Formats: sequence, C-alpha cells, structure tokens
Amino acid sequence: MNPNYLSEVPLEFADRVSDRSVYLTFDDGANLLFTPQILDVLAQHRVPATFFVIGAYAAEQPELIQRMIAEGHEVGNHTMTHTDLSRCGFEEVQREIFDANRAIMMACPQASVRYIRAPYGAWSEEVITALEIAELTPLHWSVDPRDWSRPGVDAIVDTVLTSVRPGAIVLLHDGCPPDELTLGTYAHLRDQTTTALSRLIPALHDRGYKIRSLPQPH
Ligand SMILES: [Zn+2]
Repeated sequence: MNPNYLSEVPLEFADRVSDRSVYLTFDDGANLLFTPQILDVLAQHRVPATFFVIGAYAAEQPELIQRMIAEGHEVGNHTMTHTDLSRCGFEEVQREIFDANRAIMMACPQASVRYIRAPYGAWSEEVITALEIAELTPLHWSVDPRDWSRPGVDAIVDTVLTSVRPGAIVLLHDGCPPDELTLGTYAHLRDQTTTALSRLIPALHDRGYKIRSLPQPH
C-alpha cells in the first residue's frame, strides 16, 4: 500500500476518542455459513457492525444483505470480485466498484452504500478517483488480528484487546475471497472469528468501549 494515498484513507476516527468509540468491520462475505453466525453474535449483544461485502457474493446471497440491513448494520463496498485494484486500469477499477454497488442495491434496495474498503488495503490514485466519482468514502483499519489466518481464538482476542484504543477500526472477516477458497483445507473457515467475537464484545464493554456504527462520512 502506498502511504501517499493512504493518508487520504482513515485508519481510525480520532474525533471519536472522547466517547471511547470502537468500530467493528467484517470483510469478504457474505458467507452462507459464517455470516449468519456473526449476525447472531452481534444481535445477542445488540451491537452494530459494518460488512464490506464482495459484490459477487451479495448477488448470490441477497437474503444475507437484507438481514444485515434489517438488523441495523451497515453494508460497504469491497469490490465485485475482490481483485487487487492497485493492479487494475482505471476502467476495471470503476467497473469493480460500480458493479459491487449495483449488486448490493439489487440485493437490498434499502441499503445505502457509503463506505468502501479496497481488497488487501491496496489503495491507489485510480481507486481514490473512482470512489470519489461513485461518492464512496474509503475506510482502512487500525486493528488487524489477522483472523483469516486462523491464529487461534485466544490470539485474535488478545491482539484486538492489546492494540485497541478509542476511535479504532477493527478488521475481521466473515467470509473468504473466491480465489482463496482451497478445497480440502480449513483456510476458508471463520469459526475462530465467530468465537473470538463472542468474547471480544463483552471484553470491550468491560473496558469502557462503545461499539458504534460508522459516522456520517465527512
Ligand atoms: Zn478482503
């Protein structure tokens, strides 16, 4: 990722420090198996989250997008096919972004897509220009427990709790990109994320954090 472009992309919300706000974000869904489990945990604790969904998955699983919106969560754009946008020409960048927006709106007309997260955090000049045209706000993250690598529930929980601070944006995953699905391995499973989440929410509350919806984009 290029730090010049990244400076335009928020890593956290410094203006939300005083009320100890924290933001939970989930990438790479919607996933038939794990997204409902994540939604169940969020509902149980009554906390909101933002799901950066892959457009192709949104088209396949519209009921999950509808459930996210119905339960008060935000749905963000994570491109149509989870391609590395920094390696794409401008037209392909635009297509990836617009197609994902359309897929989300088709799945759930009530969804209003405000934020985008580039796959792999690979922001580029083309991406920033394209998302300005699409009227989307970029969002990175500040806390990354690498839950997708299945480091163990304890490691996910400990990493978040040691690196979280007021205004933090936490990166977690409820799904797996299409090109990382390897048959016969466990790499695509997000059971550790689900279990870690059910421990993280009360632990964050105990430390005085408030888990909030993303603020209105500036
Ligand atoms: Zn991703």
